Amino acid sequence: MKSLSPIEMRHVEKHKFSLVLLFYLFGVVRSQVSPGVCRYPLGMSGGQIQDEDISASSQWSESTAARYGRLDFEEGDGAWCPEIIVEPDSLKEFLQIDLRSLHFITLVGTQGRHAGGIGNEFAQMYKIKYSRDGSRWISWRNRQGRQVIEGNRNAYDIVLKDLEPPIIARFVRFMPMTDHSMNVCMRVELYGCEWLDGLVSYNAPAGQHMTFEGLQVHLNDSVYDGAMGYSMTEGLGQLTDGMAGLDDFTLSHVYSVWPGYDYVGWSNESLPDDYVEIMFEFDRIRNFTTMKVHCNNMFTRSVKMFRQVVCYFRSESDWEPTPVTFSPVMDDVNPSARFVIVSLHNHMASAIKCQYYFADTWMMFSEITFQSDTAMYNTTLAPPDTDPPTSTQPDDDPTHKVDDSNTRILIGCLVAIIFILVAIIVIILWRQVWQKMLEKSETFPYNNNSSSNHSSSSSEQESNSTYERIFPLGADYQEPSRLLRKLPEFSQVMEEADGTSTAPKSPPVSMQEGVPHYAEADIVNLQGVTGSNTYAAPAVTMDLLSGKDVAVEEFPRKLLTFKEKLGEGQFGEVHLCEVEGMQEFMNEDFSFDTNPNMPVLVAVKMLRADANKNARNDFLKEIKIMSRLKDPNIVHLLGVCVCCDPLCMITEYMENGDLNQFLSRHEPEGQVAPLSTAPTIRYNNLHYMVTQIASGMKYLSSLNFVHRDLATRNCLVGKNYTIKIADFGMSRNLYSGDYYRIQGRAVLPIRWMSWESILLGKFTTASDVWAFGVTLWETLTLCKEQPYSQLSDEQVIENTGEFFRDQKRQIYLPQPAICPDPIYKLMLSCWQRNAKERPSFQNIYHTLLECQV
Ligand code: ADP
Repeated sequence: MKSLSPIEMRHVEKHKFSLVLLFYLFGVVRSQVSPGVCRYPLGMSGGQIQDEDISASSQWSESTAARYGRLDFEEGDGAWCPEIIVEPDSLKEFLQIDLRSLHFITLVGTQGRHAGGIGNEFAQMYKIKYSRDGSRWISWRNRQGRQVIEGNRNAYDIVLKDLEPPIIARFVRFMPMTDHSMNVCMRVELYGCEWLDGLVSYNAPAGQHMTFEGLQVHLNDSVYDGAMGYSMTEGLGQLTDGMAGLDDFTLSHVYSVWPGYDYVGWSNESLPDDYVEIMFEFDRIRNFTTMKVHCNNMFTRSVKMFRQVVCYFRSESDWEPTPVTFSPVMDDVNPSARFVIVSLHNHMASAIKCQYYFADTWMMFSEITFQSDTAMYNTTLAPPDTDPPTSTQPDDDPTHKVDDSNTRILIGCLVAIIFILVAIIVIILWRQVWQKMLEKSETFPYNNNSSSNHSSSSSEQESNSTYERIFPLGADYQEPSRLLRKLPEFSQVMEEADGTSTAPKSPPVSMQEGVPHYAEADIVNLQGVTGSNTYAAPAVTMDLLSGKDVAVEEFPRKLLTFKEKLGEGQFGEVHLCEVEGMQEFMNEDFSFDTNPNMPVLVAVKMLRADANKNARNDFLKEIKIMSRLKDPNIVHLLGVCVCCDPLCMITEYMENGDLNQFLSRHEPEGQVAPLSTAPTIRYNNLHYMVTQIASGMKYLSSLNFVHRDLATRNCLVGKNYTIKIADFGMSRNLYSGDYYRIQGRAVLPIRWMSWESILLGKFTTASDVWAFGVTLWETLTLCKEQPYSQLSDEQVIENTGEFFRDQKRQIYLPQPAICPDPIYKLMLSCWQRNAKERPSFQNIYHTLLECQV
């Protein structure tokens, strides 16, 4: 039963700083944007986009100003609303976001104004305009040329729309539209990543038309966003949309478009100079290392990559006299499309003009990207003397030579970083040892007479607890951002998250001193919407800091008698205590299954003495959440001691501890090794236990609660295989919408998490269903190994990427030996890529009942 305490979170934040530094110095430069991965929220909901960067054409009132147009936010009156009613066909109103630098934007999200049920305004449709310089505005169109995007159907659901094609912009405007006059309000988010190429436009001759075996092949740049005439000027388009064309240029990745869609192509018959000249303009002067050109090479159809390229550089106003010239080795054997990589020899420029010479009648390009600035660090991954400075290769993995001075700089940086890291670790270790020494001198807190001896003995038993608190995460919890960073493909996503690449922005929420981590933020709002019914939980006005007016009775702590230590959790120790007269404190609807005159055993979870204000708030929040949950399969909160320190929560005692430890001790019946003395457990009992977990989760999901950390370690086992779900340290109430999005990042149980929780920070009931599938798997393997035990944490994250890409390369947990086929089918359904296709807990519960043997 481990989840992270705020103290532990803070350690992670500290380590994060050094990691950020490390990765920044290593200049994680990706060769090109990968639209499939570049889908990270750019900071409307997370707060990284500042209020002053959000503006609007008008506002209804101060409390519906542009700054309230943040997706998933409820501040002000709950959204941005323009001053006047939006009329059909009027496009006067807009909400504008300034991202402060160029971004590659792949996805947009919109939501209406709900304001706790008071609001009901939303945009049924909208258009998007964008700009790279703030003066020339371009209307976004989809690949079929349509501008209107379907928006929201109610005030609370978030609707996400892929931008196909993606846009490269600094400024984005959302322009609400309706089919009849109505009040419209919007909350929005942009998703993508920073556009590190810095390319702001390319100018080229217009792509041409080819007739090939009766087929009309249109090789124009159909998504070019500049001016189009005989030539294309001041725009970006298909050459920068992140989509490399197929080997056969007549086919396309994109559904229902014309032959030749992915390529821009030219014939030498219409270009007498025998070359195509393309001019590239950049945002500033950059130090260029390489250019990658994705070329078609279907030589059987008279299409070949270029035979030579000559590039000129302009840094101020004049073009440098000496160009870079490069001739790739022609390939008349392999007709695959490929990236041709051209070394630009660290030329400094803000514009590059390249002349690509024809090798055959036709030349077709689908992508051109540039690597610049920090790219020199990137290359050290390749052995210095193995790669030619320039090469052609069918895949997109460029490597090139590093000069010696760069290597020396890198080694110097590495040594410095190692020193800094060692120093940080030593300081943290020293602080922990010091705190532990202080802790040892504390006295035991229930009642002075019975337990003061215990305090010292219990901390002595925990001789390694100092170590545990510095590296407290355990094998089940990982910081996804750290792991994502290690994967080059995801690194840019994480750069965005950390804001390391956007200097003017503030640090992410989770890294700001004094700003609560998402897990500490007060989101315990018990109003929600379930289908069409709005329910309201009984109002409880607990003052989190003083601990007054708790829904559960204050229990006189002197009646608790310590028996033994049950375990240690995120907040402190959990003790088994005996208590007399407990029944008198309880409502009639709760009874202990012991003789009413006998003392009862209870579990007492205590907040550790050195807990800071945030840990204290979290502890009180867990109490607040638990006090409202009443279900036979949810652990029951019996009482609290919050009037004075240390804070305690008293829950029913589950004599068999947590399910993970319980199952690990058992062997499945009929499969016991000859000399084993391990107790056995029947499949029926396992089935009974998972059915109870499903039942408890059914109850939680009916309240729109998301547990976020469902696993066997967080379920408790009582008598006769009864199960109760516990550990609400990470759970959150879902406010009416589809999901709760984390605003920072935490150390999270990645092996239990859905792909969208890891990659998009989305925690929903559907992601709880995913975790249930893993919990079911754990139970039926009797927790003998960790999920995906053969995969490292990095590989688990890679596998998450495979779930996201859905190209049938994802690895699923295997069918446990004792798992019947229908149950494995159920398990697999919990891991559907599309969250909507996963079963509800209601369905899961009924399926389990039906499959009972
Ligand atoms: P945290 O939520 O802070 O991580 P836990 O609730 O997980 O702390 O408690 C730590 C350990 O204490 C658990 O793994 C379990 O073994 C034991 N424990 C906690 N609550 C109970 C309980 N009600 N009955 C029996 N054992 C318990």
